[in-house]
Amino acid sequence: MARLNFPPAALPASTEQLRKEVRAFLADEIAAGTFVPRCDTWLSQHSPSFSKKLGDAGFLGLPWPKEYGGHGRTVLDRFVVVEELLAHGAPIAAHWVSDRQSGPSVLKHGTEQAKRELVPGMARGEVFFSIGMSEPDSGSDLASIRSTATRTDGGWLLNGTKVWTSGAHHNHYFIVLVRTTPLGEAGAKHRGMSQFVMDLRAPGVDIRPIRLLSGRHDFNEVVMTDVFVPDHFLMGELGNGWEQCIGELAFERSGPERYLSTFPLLAALIDAVGPSPSNEAAATLGMLVTRLTALRRLCISVAVSLEQGRLPVTEAALVKDMGTKLEGEIGEAARQLVPPGTNAAFDQLVADAILSAPGFTLRGGTNEILRGIVARELGVR
Ligand SMILES: Cc1cc2nc3c(=O)[nH]c(=O)nc-3n(C[C@H](O)[C@H](O)[C@H](O)COP(=O)(O)OP(=O)(O)OC[C@H]3O[C@@H](n4cnc5c(N)ncnc54)[C@H](O)[C@@H]3O)c2cc1C
Repeated sequence: MARLNFPPAALPASTEQLRKEVRAFLADEIAAGTFVPRCDTWLSQHSPSFSKKLGDAGFLGLPWPKEYGGHGRTVLDRFVVVEELLAHGAPIAAHWVSDRQSGPSVLKHGTEQAKRELVPGMARGEVFFSIGMSEPDSGSDLASIRSTATRTDGGWLLNGTKVWTSGAHHNHYFIVLVRTTPLGEAGAKHRGMSQFVMDLRAPGVDIRPIRLLSGRHDFNEVVMTDVFVPDHFLMGELGNGWEQCIGELAFERSGPERYLSTFPLLAALIDAVGPSPSNEAAATLGMLVTRLTALRRLCISVAVSLEQGRLPVTEAALVKDMGTKLEGEIGEAARQLVPPGTNAAFDQLVADAILSAPGFTLRGGTNEILRGIVARELGVR
């Protein structure tokens, strides 16, 4: 039976200095009224000016080479910065995808021209990316995508529809997975796909909002009609898109955003129940905090694996499954323990958490799919 590999989870002492710097930065921003802590800010709170401030302060593109505008630091340094941003409920949606996965992908698979054109802007907090994977009939079964890229002079023409594309109405580019060999000719459905960087402002791109019940606009349908993509925006090898995409998912699934989306609410809930909570509140909070602490250790361990150059796909799937469940339960606990109308800021955090909760266990791969990955790796499926 294969084993899950969670190496000892310890953040080096050097990261603690960085943590102090981020905390001081965030305390100043909160004091200046730049933002009020909210839940699920990495998906829903889009603030280019705040992202730019983070870029100016050197908090974006931390592990990227200095040659491309990064800071030559470690994955664990980034972990600490991200942990603080999430825990403080800061508005980080604008740069989120570029800092987490598109930057690393372009650095790993992009052409030299693409790296020079895109990565420094991402590290400055000026160039923002979305994710172009899901399609109307292809979510969990991503390999069934039907969007295509066909050859043209100097590049490619992209056609098809992507869906649930978070932030596409704000962002500049997405990395899009499309077929470059028709399904019938590819041999197997996981073959014949390629990844491109596509400009979301290019002619032929139609971005249509998909709104939440509340009217909030986070994600979109992106319809591509003969959208031109230049040759230098092909990512990696032609036909190798599936493998590249799987590598990207290890970054997408493994971070602290998979258990900290509702942390600002948990912190507010602890304040709200006060120093002498009821037995019910104490038991509930004790259980939530204990699980959070254990998840944090697992998550740091996954970050250690990434730092060591491994792709901990299965371990990340496990952490995401358990973490996203906890995020939803925090919202429920807050709703049950504190009656609405007690405190407007608290009510807002509860509303954020409850409204976003259905997405926690879906985005980035559903929990059923993640459990399937873990079960297969453990040899029980
Ligand atoms: C808030 C949010 C933001 C998102 N942002 C993006 C984005 O920016 N870019 C992007 O590309 N996508 C994005 N997505 C899409 C997301 O990746 C998909 O929703 C997800 O992969 C599931 O696909 P689906 O919605 O088509 O559901 P389906 O695949 O149709 O699944 C429906 C249900 O069936 C279950 N199911 C399906 N197959 C199996 C199986 N083999 N075994 C057991 N159960 C199964 C699923 O678990 C799920 O419960 C986002 C989704 C959400 C909710």
